[in-house]
Amino acid sequence: MKIAPSLLSCDFSKMGEEIERMDLAGADWMHLDVMDGHFVPNITFGAPVIKAVRKFSNRPFDVHLMISDPLKYIDDFADAGADIITFHVECDSDIDDTIAKIKSRGIKPGLVLKPNTPAWTVFPYLEKLDPGFGGQSFMPEMMPKVKEIKRECQRRGLNNILIEADGGIGRDTIEQASEAGVDVCVAGTAVFRAADPAKAIELFKSF
Ligand code: ZN
Repeated sequence: MKIAPSLLSCDFSKMGEEIERMDLAGADWMHLDVMDGHFVPNITFGAPVIKAVRKFSNRPFDVHLMISDPLKYIDDFADAGADIITFHVECDSDIDDTIAKIKSRGIKPGLVLKPNTPAWTVFPYLEKLDPGFGGQSFMPEMMPKVKEIKRECQRRGLNNILIEADGGIGRDTIEQASEAGVDVCVAGTAVFRAADPAKAIELFKSF
């Protein structure tokens, strides 16, 4: 399993160093949660911040857009250095157009579902996705949905689609998540607050 530490759990006063710390600890991707205060209640950071911290690691930047109109901002995040852009199937932008726009910038697209959104909502787009969409939720409620999506991908021979679980996976649920088909795990405090982040990351990667 790959691990993508979510910078939401880092010390924002030294975000660059925190990215460096995760890089050295062996993180596969850096997960950056962008929230607009509209699609979700909170506001986090945007493209200028991502651009500023980009130089602290060569690992892929996995940018998760929790924003109402992602299509409008794809160029900004592409210019900021995103390698993967995931956005929500529940957003207001046209899904096909947004996937096409992301791909046109040489970036890997992904679709994300909110916890209460059924798996079938992403099925019409599976062929267009390169890797991954995150399922944002908590274990174990999410597992049947992960299995359902994994099964559908396999049925269509789409073996390059990665399934990302955004949050909620800890020591006690990694095995279950891996068995259900999770390929990438977003972790927050489990790695940022770990006494030994490298060890915590290694544990995730061992599944
Ligand atoms: Zn996220």
